[in-house]
Amino acid sequence: MATATTERAILIGGKWVETGDWLEVRSPYDGTLVRRVAKAGAGETEQALDAAETAMREPLPAHRRAAILDGVAHLLEERADEAARTISAEAGKPMKAARVEVARAVSTFTMAAVEARTLAGDVVPMDASLAGAGKIAFTMRHPIGVVGAISPFNFPLNLVAHKIAPALAAGCAVVLKPASQTPLSALLVAELELEAGLPAGWLNVVCGLASEIGDVFVTDERVKLITFTGSGSVGWKLRERAARKRVNLELGNATPVIVSADADLDDAAFRLAANAFAFAGQSCISVQRIYIERGAYETFLDRFLPRVESLKVGDPADEETDVGPLISTSERDRVLSWVDDARNRGADVLTGGTLEGELLRPTVIAGAPRDAKVSCDEVFGPVCTVSPYDTLDEAVALANGTRYGLQAGVFTRDVKAALRVARELEFGGVTVNEAPTFRADQMPYGGVKDSGNTREGPAYAVREMTEERLVVLQL
Ligand code: NAP
Repeated sequence: MATATTERAILIGGKWVETGDWLEVRSPYDGTLVRRVAKAGAGETEQALDAAETAMREPLPAHRRAAILDGVAHLLEERADEAARTISAEAGKPMKAARVEVARAVSTFTMAAVEARTLAGDVVPMDASLAGAGKIAFTMRHPIGVVGAISPFNFPLNLVAHKIAPALAAGCAVVLKPASQTPLSALLVAELELEAGLPAGWLNVVCGLASEIGDVFVTDERVKLITFTGSGSVGWKLRERAARKRVNLELGNATPVIVSADADLDDAAFRLAANAFAFAGQSCISVQRIYIERGAYETFLDRFLPRVESLKVGDPADEETDVGPLISTSERDRVLSWVDDARNRGADVLTGGTLEGELLRPTVIAGAPRDAKVSCDEVFGPVCTVSPYDTLDEAVALANGTRYGLQAGVFTRDVKAALRVARELEFGGVTVNEAPTFRADQMPYGGVKDSGNTREGPAYAVREMTEERLVVLQL
C-alpha cells in the first residue's frame, strides 16, 4: 500500500497553501495514516473565490483550454499507476477498479477537450417570422461564472474530473471541495492541471470543513453554479438554500435490474455478480435489486451465486482483490444492520451477511419485504436482493418502487420488451443486456426523482456551465 506519510497542501490561486491545521487521510482497510492534508474553512474558500474571480477576468481562449485538458489526459496516462494507487489507498478501492477509474478519468479529460474545441452557439432562423425578417441572429455560449464543485469519496478522481474538466472546457474557474476521506486524488489532478499549463486561479482545491465551505458556496454571490455529487440529504438542502443559483445534483440510486426468462442467463449472472459488488457496492449505480422472471429464478441463482462466492474479498492493494472494505466501520455496521433488519423480517440470506476478517462478504438476500431498507433505500454496500416476478408489468412496478431514478437495467432477447421497459422505467438511463452500473464518460448521465436534476458527461455539463447570449443584427 502507498503510505507515504508526507503532508499535502491545498491549492489557492496557483499556490500550494498550508493552513496550520490538518486533515488526516486514513486507509479504510487498515486505518493506517495515508497522508495529512491542509484543512481549510470559510476563510480559505473566500480566498479561493477571490483567485477564481480574478482568473476569469482574463478569459482563456478555447484552443488553450483544450490544449490544457489534453495535456492533463496525457499526464494522467503517464502517472496512471500512481493515480490508481492513490485512489486505492485513500478510498480502499481495489486496484483493479482503481485502474479502470484512472482510464475513465483520462477519457473524461479527452472528451472535455473536444467540447472546448467545438463549443458554439446556434444560428436562429430569423426570417421564419414576420418580426424577424431582415435580421440575422445567433447565440454564443458564455461561461456562467465561478463554479463551486463538491465531490464524493467513491470516485475520487473521475468524479472530480467530471466537474473540473467541463468547467474548464466551458471557460469557468472552479473552487473544488473534494470529500474529506479522499482529497489526495483531487490534489494529484490539480498538480497535473498546473503542469499542463493552467494559469493561477482557474482551479482551486479546498479540503476540510464541509458545512463551512458549503455555506460559502451558497452565500457568496460570485459562485454562479454549484455542482454537487453525493447524498440526497446534503444535495437537496444545498439546492433549497441556494435558490437563486444553478445547483446541479448527481445523487444516489437503489439500482434495479429485470432479468427475463428469455435472457442469456449466464451472461446476466456474470455481469450482475461483477457489478453488484465491485468497490463493495459503493457506486451510485451498483446493482442492488434483481427481479428475475419466475420460470428462470432457480436457474439464474444457480449461475449467479457461485460467481458471487468466487469474488475475492481482501486488501484493496492486492491486484487480485474484487471486494475491499467499506469507507468506514460505521458504514459497514450500518449495512450489516440493514441485512439483519431484512433477515429479522423473514428474508433469507443466500450468501454473505457475515464478516471475513473486518470486511463484509458479498451478500445476496431473497424474500426481502418490499418496504425493507435493502429493497427501497440505497444500500451503498456489497448487498443485493433477488426476487421472482410473474409479469413484465409487475417487474416494472417493482423496479419503479423507489424514490430514486438514476439508472436501471433489463436483460432480455426480446427487443420489443426491452424498448417497452426502457420507456416505462422511471430512470435517467436504462441499459439492455448490460448491468446498469455501466457508464462511459461521454454518456449523458444523471437521474430523475430523488436521484438528481442534471446530466453529466462533458458535452452535457458544458451546456449547464454556460449560458446562451443572443446577438441580433439588423441588416
Ligand atoms: P456525502 O456525505 O453527501 O458527501 C459528498 C460531498 O458533500 C463530500 O465532499 C462532503 O464533504 C460534502 N458535504 C457534506 N456535508 C456538506 C454540507 N453541509 N455542505 C456542503 N458539502 C457537504 O456523500 P458521500 O457519502 O461522499 O457519497 C455517497 C453518495 O453519493 C451516495 O448517495 C451515492 O449514490 C452518491 N453518488 C452519486 C453519484 C452520481 O453521479 N449520481 C456518483 C457517486 C456518488 P465531507 O467529505 O467533508 O463530509
